[in-house]
Amino acid sequence: MSKTLVSIALWALGGWLLGAWLGPATGWALFALGLLLMVLVSGLQLSRIARWVCSIDEPPPPSVGPWDEILAPIYRKLKQNRLDLQDRARNFNRALLAAEALPDGALTLAPDKSLLWCNQTAASHLGLDLDRDRGHSILNIVRAPEFARYADQQAWSHPLILHLGRSSQARTLSLHLAPYGVGQFLMVTRDITQIERLENTRKDFVANVSHELRTPLTVLSGFIETLQDMPGNALTDAQRGHYLELMSQQARNMHALVSDLLTLSSLESTPNREGGPVFVTALARTALAQAQALSGGQHAFDIRLDETLRVRGQDTELASAIGNLLTNAVRYTPAGGAITVIWEPTPDGGAAYRVQDTGIGIDPADVPRLTERFFRADRGRSRATGGTGLGLAIAKHVAMRHDAVLDIQSTPGEGSVFSILFPAARMCPPAEPPAAAGSPSTRAA
Ligand code: ADP
Repeated sequence: MSKTLVSIALWALGGWLLGAWLGPATGWALFALGLLLMVLVSGLQLSRIARWVCSIDEPPPPSVGPWDEILAPIYRKLKQNRLDLQDRARNFNRALLAAEALPDGALTLAPDKSLLWCNQTAASHLGLDLDRDRGHSILNIVRAPEFARYADQQAWSHPLILHLGRSSQARTLSLHLAPYGVGQFLMVTRDITQIERLENTRKDFVANVSHELRTPLTVLSGFIETLQDMPGNALTDAQRGHYLELMSQQARNMHALVSDLLTLSSLESTPNREGGPVFVTALARTALAQAQALSGGQHAFDIRLDETLRVRGQDTELASAIGNLLTNAVRYTPAGGAITVIWEPTPDGGAAYRVQDTGIGIDPADVPRLTERFFRADRGRSRATGGTGLGLAIAKHVAMRHDAVLDIQSTPGEGSVFSILFPAARMCPPAEPPAAAGSPSTRAA
């Protein structure tokens, strides 16, 4: 502004001096010309400013006279605002990315509980499509009476556990609402299907163990009470012996159960180390001796063992799995049946330990459940032969810890083949067995 005033004053001074020299008319003419020139220059400067306004992100045009003083601070302020905005956008994006990366679902609701925003996890938990559902009430999206009641509360100290879907699609979600901002709501969703399943498995397991222990304990305490109530000479020696034998049978069952439970617990709690080379043949022979003792000569045994094959593993664990398969074959094969034990290489470079029997076989519908804890296809025979219902669960666990697979093939009434299939990666180079291990291929009856 001061520049403009100085220019006008200079033109006026020039006009006055020229007027004094050449007459007032010439002076006024120079002054008018000066003012006209100033108006023209101003017009030009304004049109340059108008062009700049269209691309305001660029620096303002240089030398626009008195406008320089106005445009420079405006441009500085604009630039600062732009940087602030970019900074805020970056922070906003970072917050959005963090919300997306949350392992839990998160969604925000307007005061009328209509959906404002949700992350991907919440979208998959509740089947939301943000483009479609934005602005719709969450009560119309999550259509469950218990959710409507929960959302209606004034405060939410606990999450709501919601069961959605049926059978294989069933899911359990934990939904927790919290007020935030001005009258808005934040809802956190968490898929707890797996946690709930594990919790149910744990409860079932505890219930099963209690049930399994209660039966022999009831029998034992029944006998003890009977013996206590009877006068000393009321029983013959034979009767007393019979009772004691029944009691010791129940004690053996409890012992077997506790021992299997301890094996399972140690399989679950000890870290899985690869272990050293194990001659499976040696383990198979020890198991075979026990199986033959259990059989009491009622079965024919056929043994085909490749003595040189070794796997990397834990011998105590392998011994337990190998033994379980063999004793099962004896227990589920009626007298006169045949049991074949095979330890052989497989075409893929691995090895297979197989126990084949000509026993009662298993209904195909039961096969997938055999390795569940306490599942028994033939309940009566299992109990009669002191089964714990944990043998195959242990065998499968051991197989998994050795990167192996427990394969079950069975035909009801004809027999079964239980195989532990070891992968090539678990095999050690073939080696001569220790002197005591015996000959390369053996048959026994
Ligand atoms: P259990 O102690 O009852 O034998 P397992 O876990 O060892 O428990 O086996 C689970 C069920 O699988 C058994 O109850 C039995 O019904 C069935 N089973 C296991 N091995 C055989 C087999 N060789 N032949 C037929 N059925 C078998």
